Amino acid sequence: MTTLVHAALTFRRTVRGSYGLLTAFAVAALSFLGIFRVPATELRLEHAAVAVAWAAVFGARLTARRRQFLRGEVSEGIAWIDLELGAMALVAAHAGVQVGGGLSGPFYPAVYAVVAFVAAFARQPVGAILVVIALALEAALWFGTEGQTDWKPFATHGVFVAFFGVLNLLFTRAEIARVRDGARKALDSEREKLRHESRMFRLVSAPQAGGANDEERLFRSSVEEVHQQLYHVLQLLHRTLDLHTCVLLMRGDDEEQLRIVELVTDSEHVAEGPFGAGEGAVGAVVKRQSTMNLEHLRPGYKGLCYYDGPALVQAFIGVPIVEGNQVRGVLCADRIADRPFSDKEEALLEGAIAHLLRALENERVFVQLERSKREQTILYRASQMLGAALDEDAVLDAGLDAAAEIAPYDFAAITLYDPADRRHRVRRVIGKDADRFAQLTFRDNTSLTAMAVKNRHYLPYRGEVDLKQQVVFTKRANLEGMKSLLILPLVVREDAIGTVALAAERAGAYGMTVRPTLQVLANQLAVSLSNAQAVRRLEQMATTDGLTGCLNKRAFLEELDRKLRSATRFGRKLSLIVTDIDHFKSVNDTYGHATGDVVIKELGAILRRAKRETDIVARFGGEEFCVLCEETDTEGGLLLAERIREELKATTFRTELGKLNVTASLGVATYPEHADDSHALFEASDKALYAAKHGGRDQVQCA
Ligand code: GH3
Ligand code: MG
Ligand code: MG
Repeated sequence: MTTLVHAALTFRRTVRGSYGLLTAFAVAALSFLGIFRVPATELRLEHAAVAVAWAAVFGARLTARRRQFLRGEVSEGIAWIDLELGAMALVAAHAGVQVGGGLSGPFYPAVYAVVAFVAAFARQPVGAILVVIALALEAALWFGTEGQTDWKPFATHGVFVAFFGVLNLLFTRAEIARVRDGARKALDSEREKLRHESRMFRLVSAPQAGGANDEERLFRSSVEEVHQQLYHVLQLLHRTLDLHTCVLLMRGDDEEQLRIVELVTDSEHVAEGPFGAGEGAVGAVVKRQSTMNLEHLRPGYKGLCYYDGPALVQAFIGVPIVEGNQVRGVLCADRIADRPFSDKEEALLEGAIAHLLRALENERVFVQLERSKREQTILYRASQMLGAALDEDAVLDAGLDAAAEIAPYDFAAITLYDPADRRHRVRRVIGKDADRFAQLTFRDNTSLTAMAVKNRHYLPYRGEVDLKQQVVFTKRANLEGMKSLLILPLVVREDAIGTVALAAERAGAYGMTVRPTLQVLANQLAVSLSNAQAVRRLEQMATTDGLTGCLNKRAFLEELDRKLRSATRFGRKLSLIVTDIDHFKSVNDTYGHATGDVVIKELGAILRRAKRETDIVARFGGEEFCVLCEETDTEGGLLLAERIREELKATTFRTELGKLNVTASLGVATYPEHADDSHALFEASDKALYAAKHGGRDQVQCA
């Protein structure tokens, strides 16, 4: 029955998913039966019905395909035609050709067109399959429906169909890919220009290649803002000073050449640049760092680099733009009239430059403010996440999540350093090759991690790494394929308790723009981590006994209640063993309290060695211990108790007063035989212990 239902469901799903193919098959079958072999004038209602049905299905499948694209479920790019759509288009073309007089009729080339189209826009091997389908359709119609016997026309058609198919498969696809490639390149060059200009305007630093999107948006808006202000000023100068050309040339920090940043001109002969900073009159302005005011130039003067032909102008003035001690650019103005630039006009140009510099400075401050606002938001979120993390693992996760928001990484790890054994341990690791480092521990070596802990300073310098020379953790297991690396120490008060290491395959991932923020995050992470560790230690202290490391009485009673409840629920047995060292007062009196402690500690160790995974050992006070054994009957409890007794008896303690051997008495009681609650269970095992003491000590008794 279920198989039937299953089959029905599968069938329904298949039909729903591919009713386009079924439609194509149906139309092909109708064509084969010759339904469409009628002149256009004799088309009837059923033909129209088939056409409408076909169009409806085709439209629905096309919409479904489009939706898949928009949801990103199909990633074939230009290859958006699938088998279903292609087959539907092919059968429609053939049906149409049948109406128009068959395969030797005048409409036959429509088949070529459809084949070419589907081959161009189908993924491989779908394109090839569609060409084969076209050939099969053609063969069926030619030899079947049309009843032809002549091979030659079919062969010609076949060759052409195959030819169009292959041609488009190869060329159209390549062409479409080329156009897309061109569009991508244009986008890249636009980005590069943006990077360059924001560097030229010294907007703190250029957006990173492939870096965060909002960062790029921030720079884009700033660069646009600067351009607008510049253009406005140049236009004003151009109009008021009756200029032919007013051009602002600038260069980047480490550049020799000047580029046109903004331009207002009546000339049609302005060169594109860039221009050598030593050229002509403009070069002289840069070299001498002072204004050049040239008059009575003869028309055709060649000393103005920004014209690509002889200039018509007779007056020129170039004013240097000096920031710090460096000439950052030149504001040039010229006019055709032979009217030299007056002192007043020179002052006006200088005033304009002061205004330009102020505009640049404003944008720099704006960018800086925006960035620190963004950083603060990220850090605020990070500190909330870290604050909400209750245990060490959650803190580590929150830290790595926050780091990813500040600077994306391909690999990240958090290591902890234990000064007691001088070893580093990888506590958390994610990203590329993470498995290789998951359990790694290494000693205090010369790796970048060890050095970062030792010096309490981030490494490597500038966040760039050469993994052939530098070792992240150990030489044997080094990172691979990373160009950027930042290892930040986790500093709490004066000590580095570990590191957080971030690595990225791209270069320049951890530059000045993100490093300080990451450092703040590392500090927060360190404090949260050390708090979580302190909480863990406190919890441990509250539940364990300091001398033996066993559970303490309070924690044991809680555990006992829990285990007793589950034993009741599942109808299982539970045995309790209590131990008490024999004549322990005299051990203390003879050998001293310190030796007594050693004996207690050793008994604790024996008990923990002897117990099974699920058993619980607690020091109940003084020299008394309890062992709680789950799913253990009296017999099993007695066996374990006997083993413990023998092992303690066989243990020899070396003291200043010679060798010492001690024995213990043990009592065993089992739930539900001897008691039905925890209090009674204790009482029963205590009674058994009392019996063992009275029976001559060094023995096990059961309740
Ligand atoms: P019995 O065979 O009847 O058990 O004789 P006993 O001397 O062991 O008597 P009891 O169990 O009553 O004595 C417990 C002694 O254990 C009392 C105390 O001096 C000693 N003791 C309790 N706690 C500690 C401890 O933490 N360290 C040391 N060294 N001795 C302890
Ligand atoms: Mg005792
Ligand atoms: Mg005792």
